[in-house]
Amino acid sequence: MAVERPYRHRTVGDRRLAPETQMMGYGYDPRLSEGAVKCPLFMTSTFVFETAEAGKSFFELAYGLREQKPNEEPGLIYSRLNNPDLQVLEDRLTLWDGAESSLVFATGMAAISTTVLTYLRPGDVIVHNEPVYGGTEFLTERILPEFGISREVWGTYPGAQTLDEAIARAQARGRVGIIFIETPANPTNDLVDIAAAAAKAATMVGPDGRRPLVVVDNTFLGPLWQQPLAVGADLVVYSLTKYVGGHSDLVAGGCLGSEALIAPVRGMRTVLGTISDPHTAWMLLRSLETLKLRMTSSMKNARYVAEFLQEHPKVKTVHYLGFLREGSDAHRIYRAQCKAAGATFSFEIHGGEAEAFRLLNALKIIKLAVSLGGTESLMEHPATMTHSDVPTERATRIGVTPGMVRISVGIEHPEDVIADLRQALDAV
Ligand SMILES: *Cc1c(COP(=O)(O)O)cnc(C)c1O
Repeated sequence: MAVERPYRHRTVGDRRLAPETQMMGYGYDPRLSEGAVKCPLFMTSTFVFETAEAGKSFFELAYGLREQKPNEEPGLIYSRLNNPDLQVLEDRLTLWDGAESSLVFATGMAAISTTVLTYLRPGDVIVHNEPVYGGTEFLTERILPEFGISREVWGTYPGAQTLDEAIARAQARGRVGIIFIETPANPTNDLVDIAAAAAKAATMVGPDGRRPLVVVDNTFLGPLWQQPLAVGADLVVYSLTKYVGGHSDLVAGGCLGSEALIAPVRGMRTVLGTISDPHTAWMLLRSLETLKLRMTSSMKNARYVAEFLQEHPKVKTVHYLGFLREGSDAHRIYRAQCKAAGATFSFEIHGGEAEAFRLLNALKIIKLAVSLGGTESLMEHPATMTHSDVPTERATRIGVTPGMVRISVGIEHPEDVIADLRQALDAV
């Protein structure tokens, strides 16, 4: 008696539909909602079962007590397990990444922590590149060790240990449960070769038949400009707070992959209670309709801004993916796994924290705030804000210098953003 939701067109005639087209209808059946063109907001904590037998059957499926029947949709039970807004959103979220299944969480950190807690156990090691997002860093450095899970890091900055070296050291301590990759890395835009990490993981099958899962944080370029599952990642995680939400008015996260790998994460999400809520899901459905427009506009604007900064005498280096040197390793990785340079990057000005602060304090249009991927341009100082948790000596070593500022270019007129940067750089 599960509800059928047939609105999952992937083709029209022999034409395969593009994700930007599917964002307006995929997964939503108007017949279930009085013909409403848009998926309504289902502000309800619980759902009425037609019969006791139906309720029993829904629970059996939700708790894995029986297999899903062909074409069966999971029944609606309770909004910590599922909700129509979440279900339509999760269907649509799979499309850009070409994933079989997806889950939406209360925040990006809820997605990351629920995913790693699903797949790591005491004695395991998580291997990840650095720098990574501050919250992820805190989780692997401070919280997971309390549960007997240690970490090993690698990087691409001078003197860093390589992925192979990090894995060798990790294996001396325990099973490598997850290879976690954030690429481009925040805030340096260092790139990690996802396919190479997946190839390495494939050689690491343990006596129990398991190998490390390759999990990629795709927040910076995804889902438009990078699709990690297509180049060998097992799971993709997101802060949907950023480009996907796109208006700096909500927090949410996502995890995508094959149904076989997503199902255990779904079970963990139900018990930890890290699911998102119907209102946020409804907002994200609205955001997804304009995702391609927003990401394309900000990506184009970012190139103008990066070119302006590169020519400016007070600017030392611009870590923009569009400026990678032909023939470099980073450029090869960029060509293999990225479709565009995105709109968030950092740059270093001559001087240190004092100069960076004078620049930030002089901004008029661009907002001084952390976060990224919104319609408005934002700037921040990684060393003292998003990465303040990283000790200064290590921060400098991994490339987060006192003179570095990060910009997330929005969808304003690019010449207005440049005019603001020009006058603010004059004030330095
Ligand atoms: C913001 C961010 C996160 C955390 O997401 P929240 O929604 O703030 O919990 C994780 N990874 C990256 C790369 C981010 O930028």
